[in-house]
Amino acid sequence: MRIFEDTYRHKGLRKKLIDSLRERENGITSEAVLEAMNNIPRHYFLDSALDHIAYEDRAFPIAEGQTISQPYTVAYQTELLQVKPHEKILEIGTGSIYQATVLAEMGAKVFTIERQKKLFDASKKFVLKSRYPNIKFFYGDGFEGLPTFAPFDKILITAAAPFIPPQLIKQLKTGGKMVLPLDAGESQRMLRLTKLEDGTYEEEMFHHFSFVPMLKGKSGGR
Ligand code: SAH
Repeated sequence: MRIFEDTYRHKGLRKKLIDSLRERENGITSEAVLEAMNNIPRHYFLDSALDHIAYEDRAFPIAEGQTISQPYTVAYQTELLQVKPHEKILEIGTGSIYQATVLAEMGAKVFTIERQKKLFDASKKFVLKSRYPNIKFFYGDGFEGLPTFAPFDKILITAAAPFIPPQLIKQLKTGGKMVLPLDAGESQRMLRLTKLEDGTYEEEMFHHFSFVPMLKGKSGGR
């Protein structure tokens, strides 16, 4: 059985990574985001063989051809989301659970959906489950969202969306925000939408990133 340990060495490498996210070009300015990430042992979310590179600012493969997003991307999306404690946040694309954990560490109530059965099943054995009872896991299609638990204060899409999913706009509170990488071919433009009282939304555009695609329907289940 794997033994999870957050050693001084891990903590030191993590601190360096966090400093680099703050200092780089278009660096992260939200200390709340950086502090949350500094509190989470990212190497727990990767195969133990990748332990020594867990604190490089890179994306890595996880199971089922999916990825754990690059730390800078996680920090960037989280900063745009302007997370406040106790907010209800819907995340599309659970993947490695790292992004969901960052939101939970910031005090949010996190509802996260994954379309790949194997990745969803892995969440049942999530090593930090008892530390983050504020994360709820769902197996389903993120295009549909979670109507039963709506409305949400914030929605975060962590896969490249081919269009803005209309069901997710419906599930956002008035004044609520959604952050998503919108597909435009090779790379995606990061967008932040704010829902207005009349049900429409305001759009802000940010930098380009590269995400795995947001796909329709569920995979791997019955
Ligand atoms: N937030 C993740 C990033 C994982 S990559 C992390 O922190 O590691 C994107 C994930 O979105 C993949 O696991 C992929 O299977 C999932 N995904 C893609 N389309 C989806 C959809 N329609 N609904 C739910 N999950 C989806």
